[in-house]
Amino acid sequence: MKALILGGTTEATALARLLSGHPVIEAGVSLAGRTKQPVLPPLPTRIGGFGGVDGLVAHLADNGIQAVVDATHPFADQISANAAAACARAGVPLLVLTRKPWAPDAGDRWIGVADMAAAAEALRPLGDHVFLTIGRQEVAAFEAVPDKSYLIRAVDPPEPMPNLPRHTLILDRGPFTLEGELALLAEHRTDVIVSKNSGGTATEAKLEAARRRGIPVVMVERPAGNGVAEVHDAPAALRWLEGLVHHARTP
Ligand code: NAP
Repeated sequence: MKALILGGTTEATALARLLSGHPVIEAGVSLAGRTKQPVLPPLPTRIGGFGGVDGLVAHLADNGIQAVVDATHPFADQISANAAAACARAGVPLLVLTRKPWAPDAGDRWIGVADMAAAAEALRPLGDHVFLTIGRQEVAAFEAVPDKSYLIRAVDPPEPMPNLPRHTLILDRGPFTLEGELALLAEHRTDVIVSKNSGGTATEAKLEAARRRGIPVVMVERPAGNGVAEVHDAPAALRWLEGLVHHARTP
């Protein structure tokens, strides 16, 4: 059976590892090509957009894809919507593999917001030193609140660099340690963190560090899903794929 993994996450790479050398599932991975030096999965990998829903439908047909696992980031809502529409049109089974969202713990001071514009607004009554841990694509939303001092951490620099008069850019890729995060918050006298509710362990330490220092986290909640079945770990996605193979073989 030929399967396509829509990737760009540690979950996608974990599934690729499980499928590498699989006896009956021939899988490949697709990456958007956003990250300059991506961690390449151990499976044949194509890079770049498909050209919307029509392009993805054509890709599925041209490559004889019989199952798709959407293992993209929980905030990559365009490709997930495209995958849902394309698979429905092509009659190809689709599963979403996504890490569980984080939930606040006792002692957390989270301010939940729906999107990045609301996150910027939520900063107004809060402290001056803001730590943006939201990736590089939506930093421009904070131009609406330019009078803060921003520490921006991302894998690659925002392009173009947003017009924020006081900012410091750190290029780094997780996983991050609690000790490292505590040191960073102290060094930059951070008053508030802005985060997406991405979930997962690689970047979770910042939340524990915020809890220990008693600082608030403006948490951008996930966009609504597309009604597609979800699993939260790579072995569950593998079981789903193997179940499809079994189903196809059972008369
Ligand atoms: P997006 O806004 O949902 O997608 C925009 C367009 O990028 C899609 O319409 C599609 O182009 C292309 N695309 C996205 N993911 C693709 C994939 N895996 N393979 C082929 N084309 C893809 O996506 P995004 O938020 O820019 O994220 C891009 C990639 O970075 C995703 O693969 C995601 O897993 C990863 N990522 C995103 C975030 C985040 O916070 N958004 C964080 C970490 C990693 P066409 O319409 O031309 O097909």
